Amino acid sequence: MVGLSIVKPTCLEEALALLNDDTFVIAGGTDVAIQVHTKPNVTKLVDVNGILKKGIEETKDSVIIYALTTHTDVMESPIIAKWAPALKQACSQVAATQIRNMGTIGGNVSNASPAGDSIPALLVVDTKVTYVDAQGEKTIALKDFFTGPGKTVMNKRGLVTKFEFAKADNLKTAFTKVGKRNAMAISVVNCAVGLYLDGDKIEKANIVLGSIAPTTLHIKKAEEYLFGRKFAEVDLNAFWSLVFNSINPIDDIRSTAAYRKQVAANVARSTLITAYEGGK
Ligand SMILES: Cc1cc2nc3c(=O)[nH]c(=O)nc-3n(C[C@H](O)[C@H](O)[C@H](O)COP(=O)(O)OP(=O)(O)OC[C@H]3O[C@@H](n4cnc5c(N)ncnc54)[C@H](O)[C@@H]3O)c2cc1C
Repeated sequence: MVGLSIVKPTCLEEALALLNDDTFVIAGGTDVAIQVHTKPNVTKLVDVNGILKKGIEETKDSVIIYALTTHTDVMESPIIAKWAPALKQACSQVAATQIRNMGTIGGNVSNASPAGDSIPALLVVDTKVTYVDAQGEKTIALKDFFTGPGKTVMNKRGLVTKFEFAKADNLKTAFTKVGKRNAMAISVVNCAVGLYLDGDKIEKANIVLGSIAPTTLHIKKAEEYLFGRKFAEVDLNAFWSLVFNSINPIDDIRSTAAYRKQVAANVARSTLITAYEGGK
């Protein structure tokens, strides 16, 4: 950390030109404050607070969340409560008030932690992410953004600018976090479910688990099982087994693999029920 400087670019082009292996982007700084202690090569922090946008907007068909929007902004937004309640639940369970007031949604996603709480909740509403790099602006499905733990397609040479998802009247969502305590705990497992319904028939299901693999994962076999079924015809034990057999978590300091596997299948099943019965 000796000799660490902060630069405040005044435009996107200037910021992009500063990004290299020895710089970090800093938004809220809640992750960066820790990361600078483990990356002695980092000598410069590129503060994007003057150039990226903050806030949540509703258009006729979609919801836009700008990168600098904080977890507190998300959890207090009536737009998010209406169109993506799982995301409200996820941001409400990040850390504690101080971190939620500083930490941004752009930082949570760019950090690409497999335990990032906003990520499953953004994935179940089929979010698209927009980022800029030296090649220009790109908008891609968020599910294609992550390439490994801490890694994204931006390769630390880009800036996330916004997220966007379609407003869907027939979508119900829910989120569950399992941590070692109720606050200030990184997820041992997190789960979000999104169900696009035609009456009680599931037109499309997104079942997403975090903290069980190098990146947040869609559980494809469980999604395929739900496709086209009426909820009353879903065999919840079969669903549980499909999730259980789809994942192969690792042991780490927060949990054993065996515990994670069991808990992930349990929370996927309970979150599915919550989404259908209690989600918007
Ligand atoms: C005590 C504590 C508890 C925490 N608990 C949780 C928790 O429960 N759940 C959870 O999900 N997270 C948790 N976190 C992690 C952190 O608070 C979140 O990931 C937060 O959303 C990060 O946002 P930030 O704006 O502070 O990011 P920063 O720290 O500013 O940046 C994070 C990373 O993303 C990069 N970055 C930031 N913004 C952009 C951008 N727009 N474009 C490109 N790159 C960018 C930075 O270079 C850095 O690598 C916790 C952190 C702490 C310190």
